[in-house]
Amino acid sequence: MSDQYTMQDPTTQYPGPDESFEQQQEGPGLQGEMAPKPDSGESSYRGSGRLEGRRAVVTGADSGIGRATAIAYAREGADVVLSYLPQEEPDAREVVELIEAAGRRAVAVPGDVTDKAYCEQLIATAVAELGGIDILANIAGKQQHCPDILELTDEQFDETYKTNVYAMFWLCKAAVPHLPPGSAIINTSSIQGYQPAPILLDYASTKYAINGFSKSLAAQLAPKGIRVNVVAPGPVWTPLQVVGGQPAEKLPEFGASEAPLGRPGQPAEMAPAYVFLASQESSYVSGETLAATGGMPTP
Ligand code: NAD
Ligand code: MG
Repeated sequence: MSDQYTMQDPTTQYPGPDESFEQQQEGPGLQGEMAPKPDSGESSYRGSGRLEGRRAVVTGADSGIGRATAIAYAREGADVVLSYLPQEEPDAREVVELIEAAGRRAVAVPGDVTDKAYCEQLIATAVAELGGIDILANIAGKQQHCPDILELTDEQFDETYKTNVYAMFWLCKAAVPHLPPGSAIINTSSIQGYQPAPILLDYASTKYAINGFSKSLAAQLAPKGIRVNVVAPGPVWTPLQVVGGQPAEKLPEFGASEAPLGRPGQPAEMAPAYVFLASQESSYVSGETLAATGGMPTP
């Protein structure tokens, strides 16, 4: 079992991809049905009181990077409101149990972030249940590959932008009136926000938008003592990739050739970045994008 505490060679910390990575599920997909199973730090993440008493909202909290972040936040001492799609209830139940096992409150609020009313209700529920919000981690995202602009439908373009960009706007807008000085917003870009793949036209462009939005909002909210930052993951083994994020036949090489570290990342390797940017340790960091890309360079 790997962890983030034992010094070791990062190129071999987790296995590289192989034929077993070739698998497909219907969207949004379940982490519980993936094999090999992503590591979201379920049995490894150790907290050290860095988010004691904080109240966090995490979208996409059922699986992948959001799941790893929700687990880490709880083990660092935060209560967590979890957003995810109703079809993801089996994954979300496990996260609720892990948060409760850490002695923290988990408030599950399933719904669709492409619906503005749901985004507003998610924030209102967090305020009502936890008494306020100190951390908003926007991690939900949609990625569907499409090789040709002529085949990219208006419906997909709209849904990708609604999920990745509009939901972030709606959630930030609803949360800001409730965010005290010292609170943090963390959005999720990607290596695709710097090196756009030709098959990810809609997705990659949302990830550029997320970076720009976050840098502007960071400057706007700085006088209020609210910090806004971004995490930009590289190729990470999550459900997103097996529901059409990548062509199925590419999965046996996922992360191997493009990342200098020679393997895909695991969600557990992303969570520490979300913890750092949420905690007071990053008090002088705002408008930054922290890349965790397996060595793929960003500007
Ligand atoms: P994931 O599938 O585990 O998480 C994505 C989550 O988004 C889902 O669990 C789902 O709950 C949520 N979601 C999607 N559409 C939604 C909707 N309409 N309403 C509510 N929730 C919705 O995959 P992940 O890779 O952990 O993705 C998390 C974030 O990381 C995404 O923003 C993704 O773009 C980003 N990212 C992932 C990678 C990667 O290689 N996996 C790389 C860079 C960035
Ligand atoms: Mg999921």
